Amino acid sequence: MASSLQTLIKILHLEQKKGYQNKAVIGGFARFAYHWAREAHSQAQTDAHHALVDQIADRLREYETLPEERRPEWIEHIITLATMPSSSIEESGPASQPVPPAAVAEIPAVASPVEQDVPPVLEKIKAQAEPEVEITLEEVGGLEEEFTILAPSEEAVESIGIPLSVRERRGYAWRQFSPASEEELRGLDAPVSSVSGIGHKRAEQLERLGVRTIRQLLYLFPRRYNDFTRMKIISQLRPDEEVTVMGVLERIHTQQTKRGGTLIEAYLTDESGSLRLSWFNQPWMEHQLKEGEPVIVSGKVDQYLGRLVMNAPEMEPLEREWLHAGRVVPVYPLTKDLSARVMRRLMKEVVDLWAPRLPDHLPLEVRENADLMDYGDAIAQAHFPDSWEDKEAALQRLAFDELFILHLAMLRQRHAWQARQSTPISVDDNWLSAFEASLPYQLTTAQRRAIADIRRDMASDVPMNRLLQGDVGSGKTIVAAVAIGMAVANGTQAAIMAPTGILAEQHYATLRRILHNSPLGDQINIALLTSNVSDLERESIYTGLADGSIQVVVGTHALIQAGVAFAHLGLAVIDEQHRFGVTQRGALREKAAGGNPHLLVMTATPIPRTLALTLHADLDLTIVDEMPPGRTPVQTRVLQPKERERGYAFIRSQIEKGHQAYIICPLIEESEKLQARSATAEYERLQKTVFSDLRLGLLHGRMRPDEKEAVMASFYRHELDILVSTSVIEVGIDVPNATVIMIEGANRFGLAQLHQLRGRVGRAEHPSYCLLVSDRPFLDYDERLRAVEETTDGFRLAQIDWEMRGAGDILGTRQSGFGVIQFADLMDTHLVELVQREARAIYERDPLLILPEHEALRQLVDQISDSGADIS
Ligand code: ADP
Ligand code: MG
Repeated sequence: MASSLQTLIKILHLEQKKGYQNKAVIGGFARFAYHWAREAHSQAQTDAHHALVDQIADRLREYETLPEERRPEWIEHIITLATMPSSSIEESGPASQPVPPAAVAEIPAVASPVEQDVPPVLEKIKAQAEPEVEITLEEVGGLEEEFTILAPSEEAVESIGIPLSVRERRGYAWRQFSPASEEELRGLDAPVSSVSGIGHKRAEQLERLGVRTIRQLLYLFPRRYNDFTRMKIISQLRPDEEVTVMGVLERIHTQQTKRGGTLIEAYLTDESGSLRLSWFNQPWMEHQLKEGEPVIVSGKVDQYLGRLVMNAPEMEPLEREWLHAGRVVPVYPLTKDLSARVMRRLMKEVVDLWAPRLPDHLPLEVRENADLMDYGDAIAQAHFPDSWEDKEAALQRLAFDELFILHLAMLRQRHAWQARQSTPISVDDNWLSAFEASLPYQLTTAQRRAIADIRRDMASDVPMNRLLQGDVGSGKTIVAAVAIGMAVANGTQAAIMAPTGILAEQHYATLRRILHNSPLGDQINIALLTSNVSDLERESIYTGLADGSIQVVVGTHALIQAGVAFAHLGLAVIDEQHRFGVTQRGALREKAAGGNPHLLVMTATPIPRTLALTLHADLDLTIVDEMPPGRTPVQTRVLQPKERERGYAFIRSQIEKGHQAYIICPLIEESEKLQARSATAEYERLQKTVFSDLRLGLLHGRMRPDEKEAVMASFYRHELDILVSTSVIEVGIDVPNATVIMIEGANRFGLAQLHQLRGRVGRAEHPSYCLLVSDRPFLDYDERLRAVEETTDGFRLAQIDWEMRGAGDILGTRQSGFGVIQFADLMDTHLVELVQREARAIYERDPLLILPEHEALRQLVDQISDSGADIS
């Protein structure tokens, strides 16, 4: 414990020198108290020690709140506590009466680390605190609290007790800025052109990458990193490895090639040998190369005419800070005229300026519990990592934040939602049995379980908030129908909203059949409200909903238009919920005049349970994990590219039997526009060649909603034989007559997505088929595709995908809704569980994030709640 007391005393002396401004430690004394107490507790050996630590920590925390005139006395008091001989502590227990100042003098090793007064601007103060530690405190104009601390080792700096969050390991220098003020932080939202060195043209280039503000620039993370950390001497080099070599430049030579290009060559020499370097058509390199200059180069070793050569290596002068070579080098997305080197240099400048000043929005306990890197560090290390470990830790931190804030937002939403009462809806066992008996088939066990969950939820005046997750075809509609029946039996209204007009029509037909055959009888008034209904019809539906004469309404977005108002909405159901934003879902709830309906949301996107509990933290979860009996599972085959013709022949044979087919075009991630273009090209090719005698339709994401609906409708009416589509087809369409789906570039899709696509067929009794065409050669047989071939369990596929590729693919299908999730691929079970644990801990203490220590978090949570991002 002696060492932490000594540290403390040094800090306190420094505070005295600095005029009691709460500036001796970065972040202030309250924050320091936390760190210090942890450290000191770990060193404490007796109860008395622990008590003393607590006592001092309390005083330290209070310090900042004191008026200035009381501070000197307070510091004296803490020094006194800290310098009491430990023997006397043990005897007297946690003493509160001050010990005579003489006690201070008895600690000879502790000298004030600063020997002069507060330094004038730019004047360095040196202090010899401990023989091997040299501290330089530098006050720079403008940035009042910039410190440069020079010390021989990181440990030495830490022993001074200043919690350092940002370190620059150049030489032995560390730098720490104080967090920027709120005022200064607004600078983050300034346009990038406010950075010196970013002019109009650069700003335009950056805008092409989606970056307008400094904040967005800081969040433009590298796509990947090059490992230029492995150093070798020249005699050890082998072809094909990526390495870094140090040496001196010799024999620099520029020549024109026959075709009019330039070729610059040089030799890099170290004590073990020399290596040829060459740059082709990079004439500007000529000015960067100087004979005899020591440099470091990074790149891939090639072989040319039996000798080793490095083509177009990255190079840095040895004495300059390395940005492009000799380290883990970030690789950024680029755009025309914005080169990798320029991008890196520009980014480095902005990161260096801002990262150290970013305040950390996570409470300290959370950071400690989850073992997270500081925020500013994480931003700095994500861009320019000191090592691979630092990179990992940085990205972990950022991924944690992202999910954590999302999670808190959802918990808070749930809290708000459940604070408003709803009408209890309950039915007795007899009613339920009679209703079930009227259904066209026996319910599966999973369906019964789901109904039981819903029945229990709705019986309460706390609104239900339940997510029903079940694979395509698992029979969720009927579960919703039973819930709707319960609502109607209780004299309330029910609404069900679907993402497309076609789906709404299907639900309308199903519900009429089921409800009219049920004990509720055919007097129940059920309406269909889509954008297709006539003005007259719409008005009469509005009236019926408002006066309660319509009990059940099925519809699309039309349900949440301004004119819609319910007399007494007891239950709101949202089908294919991931197609709607939170605002849209919220809007349906708000339609319940004066009350709060129970809410049931349904999705066919299988998400592993652990992940679902985080992504849908505002909802209770029921999984329908059983298929109705009598289904013949879709048969799935992986085809190699050269088997495509056989695939076409098979499609034709199905069409000749009177069925229909889908052909899905490969996923092109870069742009929807490219994807639309390639789908159009594929459609035209197939229509002109392979299937010139058949009726083909085209569907892609760049079409207008009404165009899309029109195409789907004509496919539904069997006016088309084949629908050529991008993956937009994925949700919603149910054409029982379609029996085969061929998916091009299947290896590029996530498994969950493939599974969804496959669910477009096999929707009736006809045997159905899914052909996965991989665009890789057969040798490279894809384990993931094999899994799709072997199982039809969507949850298992989602789990496999999650384990193999991170959560990106699983969330990929809902990219627009989950735009906030940038680090999905890093979400593994560990991270998700960590987030859950920490978010719940905070939520239990402070669900609305009103405590002062949660202020920064609350602001972030507000931001994503306001952004309307799909957060449940
Ligand atoms: P999804 O969960 O994808 O919405 P649906 O509710 O559309 O699935 O149901 C798919 C098909 O299965 C429908 O034709 C429905 O009538 C049928 N179905 C649902 N439950 C059962 C059951 N218990 N037994 C037999 N068929 C069922
Ligand atoms: Mg459905």
